[in-house]
Amino acid sequence: MKFSETLIPTLREVPADAVIASHRLMLRAGMLRKLANGLFAYLPLGLRSFRKVERIIREEMDAIGCLEIKPTVVTPGELWKESGRWDTMGESMLRVRNRMSADLVVSPTAEEAVTSIIRDELSSYKQLPLLVYQINTKYRDEIRPRYGVMRGREFTMKDAYSYHQDDASLDNTYQAMGVAYRRIFKRCGLTVIPVKADSGPMGGANSEEFMVESTIGDNTLLLCKACTYAANVEKAGCEPDFSKLSQVNDSSDNMKMEKIPTPQVKTIAELCEFLKTDARSFIKTLIYRAVNVELDLSGAPGCANLKKHRPAPGAPEVYDEAFFAVCTRGDLDVNEVKLAALLKASDVSLAGDADVVRITNAPVGFAGPARLSSVPIIADPAATAMTDAVTGALEADSHFIHVMVGRDWSPWRTADVRVVKAGDLCPVCGGELYEKKGTELGHIFKLGYKYTKTMNVRYLDENGVSQTPIMGTYGIGVDRALASIIEEYHDDAGILWPMTVAPFHVIVIPIKYEDKVKAATDIIADKLERRGIEVLVDDRAERPGVKFNDADLIGIPFRIVVGEKNLPRVEVKLRGEKEAFLAEIPDAVERITAVVREAVRK
Ligand code: ATP
Ligand code: MG
Repeated sequence: MKFSETLIPTLREVPADAVIASHRLMLRAGMLRKLANGLFAYLPLGLRSFRKVERIIREEMDAIGCLEIKPTVVTPGELWKESGRWDTMGESMLRVRNRMSADLVVSPTAEEAVTSIIRDELSSYKQLPLLVYQINTKYRDEIRPRYGVMRGREFTMKDAYSYHQDDASLDNTYQAMGVAYRRIFKRCGLTVIPVKADSGPMGGANSEEFMVESTIGDNTLLLCKACTYAANVEKAGCEPDFSKLSQVNDSSDNMKMEKIPTPQVKTIAELCEFLKTDARSFIKTLIYRAVNVELDLSGAPGCANLKKHRPAPGAPEVYDEAFFAVCTRGDLDVNEVKLAALLKASDVSLAGDADVVRITNAPVGFAGPARLSSVPIIADPAATAMTDAVTGALEADSHFIHVMVGRDWSPWRTADVRVVKAGDLCPVCGGELYEKKGTELGHIFKLGYKYTKTMNVRYLDENGVSQTPIMGTYGIGVDRALASIIEEYHDDAGILWPMTVAPFHVIVIPIKYEDKVKAATDIIADKLERRGIEVLVDDRAERPGVKFNDADLIGIPFRIVVGEKNLPRVEVKLRGEKEAFLAEIPDAVERITAVVREAVRK
């Protein structure tokens, strides 16, 4: 391929709105152009690498027996109504109407579309397990698209779905996907951190995210210094650390709970100041409102008359809304993702002031678990470990001191609902946890029966009995993977592509594309191409310095410079290395071919 015959509009200037390296370099290297906020067009050079990432993903999916299909991008709204997600996906889902006034959805993901296809084709257990995937356009109306294709509105995702007779079969595929994902990222040159999304050491993993470390990542990861434990903060658990308790007061048995006046004291900081103690002595009590709660609340305090509904036909009944008091130690925060998971709620948020007043009978700031009977109390183990605590007294300007769990209050449920932080203890080995920021590249997830039940997928088992298959879902963002490769492989001058995903393997730069130099250039390019090596010839009538800078910017692994004074030898250099070597053309061709073939070998 000749530079002058393709479209590689490199830029010298750094585009103003591109703040991360991959975004800057994709624009500067002429790989990408912005059409509108969150919408990007790949130009020929960018598309070559994009296709290589796609190809690696495709090969690894094919290798585990996952079958490629191509559903449409625009999907019937009816399917989303069947699953219930028409109501829960919110504004990130792009809905359109056609001329017949039919509701349509531009796919943000494809559980519904694929499940509907499988539903029509599945009849017997003999067809299971069934694994399918697509590499296709997705649209999500992200509130803040940013960092170029890292978080676009339109992007390409490899999404796979699997259907099984039982847990064991689902687990087999889940494990195979985990291995395939590791191979995909390795072949792309990416260093990923697989993060188990199960919360505790005992729970079998049912979700794993593949993260790349990145200062701009929206995920906080907790990793153990002593073992391999790694989890997203949304799910991270920790060992309760009783040594951090400031008050485990054995004499509290004898100290009765006592109400003390705390005028004008509302926040924990003010209370610390007032009582001259620290936040670890307090039980922090927050009132939460949860919607669409699936957890069974029969018998729970204040829950006798809650209204219920069924979000979709076939889906379990849920409570419309319910309120809870959530207790943690004063220095800890409540993890709303864990809380929502515990309650099986579609959303949880802090209750409004009026609800807090109604539930606690006191102004905001004086909630506490002792004598609270209007809502169920959910307590973190850090709170139930406190035997001599300070809490709000359900009355303006008052707190209780010497509050003892079991004697003065009892939780309705004890569960890990706290945000785990750096310095907490690993739930597996007790080692110290530390934090990193990460971006999610891929996700594998045991979905269970959510879609197969609501969408009524059935098959006949060995005994002729009608059954519902269990399902898994597995995604990778192609654009995000590509951008992450550039994040990992660049320097001040430009990109340093790993051979497997480089747009070309070799760039040949003739000092002047004329006469003997032109002839030698054409011979090298031809010999390499015959061996399956991808070559870009910079045939432009530009100064050598300009061509060298562009070659560094677009980051092609091998650079061959052809100049009159060196002929019949040429100068060969790897993008990441300073030193070049001179070689006769046949020798250069052999050596380069061997290196490329070895690097792209599966
Ligand atoms: P995030 O938390 O980053 O929004 P997600 O949890 O919404 O990701 P999934 O629904 O699991 O992502 O989608 C699978 C993959 O699709 C992600 O791992 C990511 O690589 C990619 N992806 C998701 N949203 C975007 C986006 N807006 N732009 C580019 N890639 C995306
Ligand atoms: Mg998202």
